[in-house]
Amino acid sequence: MDILVALENNSGSIHRMSLEALAAGQKLASEMNLSLSMLAMGKNGGDLAENAGKFNAEEVLLLENPLLDNYSSDGYSQAITSVLEQEKPRFVFMGHTYMVRDFLPRVSARLQIPFVSDVIQFRIDDGAPVFTKQVFNAKLGADIVSQSKGATLVSFQSAAYQSDQAEAGAAAIRSISIEMDSSAVKTQSEEPFKEEAGGVDLTNAEIIVSIGRGIGKEENIPIVNALVDALGAELGSSRPIVDSGWLEPSRQIGSSGQNVAPKLYLALGISGAIQHVVGMKGSKNIVAINKDSEAPIFEIADYGIVGDILEIIPKLSEAVQAAKN
Ligand SMILES: Cc1cc2nc3c(=O)[nH]c(=O)nc-3n(C[C@H](O)[C@H](O)[C@H](O)COP(=O)(O)OP(=O)(O)OC[C@H]3O[C@@H](n4cnc5c(N)ncnc54)[C@H](O)[C@@H]3O)c2cc1C
Repeated sequence: MDILVALENNSGSIHRMSLEALAAGQKLASEMNLSLSMLAMGKNGGDLAENAGKFNAEEVLLLENPLLDNYSSDGYSQAITSVLEQEKPRFVFMGHTYMVRDFLPRVSARLQIPFVSDVIQFRIDDGAPVFTKQVFNAKLGADIVSQSKGATLVSFQSAAYQSDQAEAGAAAIRSISIEMDSSAVKTQSEEPFKEEAGGVDLTNAEIIVSIGRGIGKEENIPIVNALVDALGAELGSSRPIVDSGWLEPSRQIGSSGQNVAPKLYLALGISGAIQHVVGMKGSKNIVAINKDSEAPIFEIADYGIVGDILEIIPKLSEAVQAAKN
């Protein structure tokens, strides 16, 4: 086996970041002529495998074991370690989720194999994949080539690859089993965290108007609401706005908020700190307005406007309204 994409189980459906890892895996498979399989495990693993079978891969390995029904870092690391020993893939691809950050380093330590984490892209050089990850608070990109004799574990940053680029197809399901030592599973997870009742789900929004500290004060938010209404958008924000109590936590976008990928993302008075950018850089079109022409947000923006949002937003709302009438 060449590439194994280990899927994160969202109650039987595929986690968005696993689909992004699959898109990356399919790209590597096609560029290096490698085979690709997926691994489905956890509660409702059969449903997960069935969903995975609708994508282009050689096969989907289905691992069912009651010890894996609920997530535990010791259980999951034990299971993946055994699967790797059994199936011997060269590369294991996953999304860089909280769960992966929790258990995959253990697999790396147990098998003494490299874990290249939070990768943003790869290219092929001299017949080998070169993985790039950001270092020094995203100021530099580090290129990493694995020298591993066994597998190489790779996790991808959110939106590094697009989930809608995962190629559809038909993959056969193969059930596998491993020996698991129940006494080695010492931790038990609580129910997965759920957003507070009534919290907004920005992940399916097509247009997001997002405000940052540049909005100045809470009293200025109604100006933005007019633009949100005119565009039929959802309102999002950077973390300082939520920390100030001006918007509810479910509107925060970024590494400790929601991960979004709308068709249009308007970043208003947002500097573009890495913790914000990881949550929105998968947006199809990014428009940034900032009075500082050097603001890092312009590096990822498709369209940039240097100016004062408090002057521009009302004019933009008027223009959108006029265009609609
Ligand atoms: C562990 C950790 C997790 C974090 N998680 C998140 C997260 O999930 N989401 C998140 O967003 N941040 C997160 N942060 C915080 C992050 O590091 C930044 O501090 C934050 O994103 C900055 O928000 P901002 O861009 O709104 O504010 P600032 O960085 O202060 O930027 C404000 C911008 O507004 C511009 N501006 C000011 N006035 C105007 C005006 N009138 N018109 C136009 N532009 C104007 C300024 O030029 C500036 O670029 C996290 C930090 C840590 C340490």
